[in-house]
Parts: sequence; structure tokens; C-alpha cells
Amino acid sequence: MSHFSDRVEAISISGIREVFEAASDDAINLGLGQPDFPTPAHARRGAIEAIEAGHVDAYTSNKGTIGLREAIAEKHARDNDLDVDPNDIIATAGGSEALHLAMEAHVNEGEEVIFPDPGFVAYDALTKLAGGTQKPVALRDDLTLDPAAVEEAITDDTAVFVVNSPANPTGTVQSPEDMREFARIADEHDVLCLSDEVYEQIVFEGEHRSPMEFGENVAVVNACSKTYSMTGWRLGWVTSTTDRIERMLRVHQYVQACASAPAQYAAEAALSGPQDVVTEMRDSFNERRDVLLDGLADMGLETPTPQGAFYAMPRVPEGWVDAVIDEGVVVVPGEAFGEHGAGHARISYAVDVETLKEALDAMRAATERVS
Ligand code: PLP
Repeated sequence: MSHFSDRVEAISISGIREVFEAASDDAINLGLGQPDFPTPAHARRGAIEAIEAGHVDAYTSNKGTIGLREAIAEKHARDNDLDVDPNDIIATAGGSEALHLAMEAHVNEGEEVIFPDPGFVAYDALTKLAGGTQKPVALRDDLTLDPAAVEEAITDDTAVFVVNSPANPTGTVQSPEDMREFARIADEHDVLCLSDEVYEQIVFEGEHRSPMEFGENVAVVNACSKTYSMTGWRLGWVTSTTDRIERMLRVHQYVQACASAPAQYAAEAALSGPQDVVTEMRDSFNERRDVLLDGLADMGLETPTPQGAFYAMPRVPEGWVDAVIDEGVVVVPGEAFGEHGAGHARISYAVDVETLKEALDAMRAATERVS
């Protein structure tokens, strides 16, 4: 008989998959967490040129090429006004691996990890894989994470709390004051603030600020995945203090050795090349968000205003998600993101406006059926 670890038995394949499988083949998919744009041409070219020059046939340094890490440091100077040493960066296989490294390096058996509920599904699963105990924290009514709620949840056993802004699945953006508070809480309680900033560039209102601007006990996870529509390339990174990076590198060198070399060259080109593609994608998401919010309001659904990312999380009546899927549109039930997601649905608007309008017609029909 096979024997599997308790850690792996404690997690399962994401609930989001089940929704896809329940939908018909020609359904409109508003369940996906990835932009629908091509990767910028200059990023693709960065990889192609490196491949043709024979630069990607061997392992790179465990942390990633110095060229990429310098481009990441330059990005942090440009966008976050942060002085990051390229030696305090590890290039990873997407933001996903970066989150995994942070958990493995900081969470002892039984220690607690605080994360938003509803929140990105990986926080719960990675906590369990690291042997930790999940401490989901309910959000404010506007679906942002309250620093006071995080501080209240901290105990002597807390190792990490996760902040994610702009957020998946809510699309909300934390205020600069909240970010300052998160940094203070991390410093005062001596716990790690793990700041997942993969949607950093997709902000329509307000501004993205990193807790790293305000405190020491912070690790920032970011990626090219959403910013440059590079989910398939698998390139992210983590940056933090030298001692934390050294511990995360111990994990990374054994599970990954280094991030894929072609992807590293593509990422370097994306980060150091023209950034107007990022603005174009943001403007396009902004337009779609407005179409979606208007449509949802028209059918009487209340939606806390998403100020970033490409998700909205309306409050929906009982049976709504199933009725929408029946009408041929895939959306994800809020409870897939935690207990407090119940009564909501996550809608990803990474589709063109015409498709979105078609999906809204289906949602309207479903709403009429269930209300
Ligand atoms: N963090 C959040 C909040 C996400 O939504 C995702 C992907 O959906 C990730 C991290 C992981 O991104 P990547 O594709 O870079 O691994």
C-alpha cells in the first residue's frame, strides 16, 4: 500500500479546477488568473537571443543571473524607491516558488501563518506543506485586510503573516497607512510580513506601496507573470534581508537549482525594456473593470470596488455560481478562497470587452433565475 506524507494528504487539488471541469467546452472562462495579452515582443526576443547565443545551456547562479538581479533591483528603485542589493534577490520559478521558499524558510512545525480570508489559495496550502497551522483572518467589509485584525491574531506561535495587495481574489488595494502598519506589526512582534506584490502594476485607483518601505521584517514576492503577461515563462523573485535570503536560498538550491535560464533572459528584457506595454494592459483592465462593475450594479449585485488586479468579488445570492455556470460562464465560488469567501463569487475579467458583455448577459439571466 502506498504511504503518503501527512503534509501532502492535508492538501488537495485546487477547488478552482473543479469549476473548470463542471463547465462546458464552449463556456466563457472568467475563472482564470492570467492576463490574456501576448508577452511583450522585447521579452520574447531577450530569450530568443540568449538561446541563439548559447547562454542558456547551463545552470545559472542559484540566485539567478546578475543581469536579471540587477534589472530587478533597478525595478525596485524605479517603482518602489527601494534600495535593494542584487545579492538579496533570488529569481524563482514564478511567484509561486518564491512563496514556497518563504514559508519553508520561516515556518516551524505547528507555527502559525496568518493570511487573508478570502485569499489566494496557495497561502493555506503552502502553510500546511511547511507543517504550519493556518490562521485565516476575515477581511473588512470593503474586502481589505485590517492591520488591527492581523495584530489581534498574532500569538507567540506566529511565524508569518501574508499581505497581498492588489489582492487575488478581491482586487482590493491596501492603503499606504495599512502598509505602514503591517511593517510596524512585523517589527514589533518580530514576525515576518510576507508581502505578495505580483499584481503591483495593475492599480487603477490609490497607489501601491510596499511594506518593505517601512520596516525590516518583510519579504517581498513579485513576478513577471501578471505584469508582463508571462505566466507560462515561470519567472518570479523574492527579496528580503541578507539572512532571510540566505535561508531561502538553501531551499531553492535543492528544489530548483536555478530558475529556467531562457525565462531569466526574457524577464531581464521585460524589466529593463520599454514599460508602455504595462500601461496599455492596465488601461485595458481598467476599461473592462468599469464594464463589469456597471453590469453587476445593473443586475442589483453589490461589489466592493476592486481598485486593482483583474478580479471582482460581488456578493451573490444562493445558487448564483451554479446558475451562471449553467448559463455557460465559468466563475469561481468565493468559498474556494476561504470560509469567509462564502456568499461571494470571484470574476476574472481577463477577457475582451465583447466577451465580457456576453458573459454579463448570461450573469443577468442567472441572477433573474435565482433571485
Ligand atoms: N500570488 C498571487 C496573489 C497570485 O494570484 C498568483 C497567481 O495567480 C501568484 C502569486 C503566483 O504567480 P506565478 O504565476 O508567478 O507563480
